[in-house]
Amino acid sequence: MTNDNKKNVLVTGGSRGIGKATCLKFAKMGMNVVVNYKSNDKAAMQVVEEISKLGSQGLAVMADVANPDSVDAMFKEIAETLGDIDILVNNAGIINDGLLMRMSNEAWNEILATNLNGAFYCTRTAIRNMIRKRWGRIVNVASVIGVEGNIGQANYAASKGGLISFSKSIAKEVATRNITVNAVAPGYIATDIVDGISDEVQAIILSRIAQGRLGSPEEVASLITFLASEEAAYITGEVIRVDGGIEI
Ligand code: NDP
Repeated sequence: MTNDNKKNVLVTGGSRGIGKATCLKFAKMGMNVVVNYKSNDKAAMQVVEEISKLGSQGLAVMADVANPDSVDAMFKEIAETLGDIDILVNNAGIINDGLLMRMSNEAWNEILATNLNGAFYCTRTAIRNMIRKRWGRIVNVASVIGVEGNIGQANYAASKGGLISFSKSIAKEVATRNITVNAVAPGYIATDIVDGISDEVQAIILSRIAQGRLGSPEEVASLITFLASEEAAYITGEVIRVDGGIEI
């Protein structure tokens, strides 16, 4: 990829899974990478170590994206250390599944707060400097569940569906400023989230994937880094699935 060197990238939830693979891919491209995480210091520090082995600068910043004060503090620390963020990947996301009738207010609010509000807080801050610089890339990690819906995941589907329409709206707001905003919609990817699903349910999931296997975090990271590159300059407001041909 061309002319992308030394941009500052923030990947929320960059310490594990899809976020980690994305941080490492950006590091291979020569970018400065901020690895945000919520609580697992060890995992985040490991990613930063791998980033420096690849010859790039990494910075681990602990912040809960669901908390606007925590997000403000994170951006302050980034500004003091690296400068402005050029590429934002809103990746931090969690699940708390259950049928709607039994879903608690907490299970609903917690998912919306992290998966949707978190992207709002980070984007609102990052976009100011992108507008000023007349260049920026925002990639939001949604899910096929946000497109199709799923039994037992009304909270998660609402958060990811919201993230998709958020992306489309912001894409329109900043289109003339050389800033693109896209959503990626992964299917079932082999990370800690999917490890938590029972073998029985995993077998049902596999039977619905045309390729008959889970995706890898790297396969999602490839799309994210492409959308963040100069080569993807004319792609905005899109939702692109990475799902091995899934039928929910
Ligand atoms: P993982 O569970 O492997 O990693 C989650 C990451 O998010 C960790 O780095 C974690 O940090 C961080 N995180 C969680 N909550 C917060 C928070 N409040 N603030 C900051 N960071 C937080 O997740 P995946 O890699 O599987 O998923 C990444 C994204 O991809 C999510 O948005 C998910 O919804 C989406 N996705 C995943 C799919 C899959 O099959 N895996 C399918 C479709 C979409 P810490 O370690 O400190 O807790």
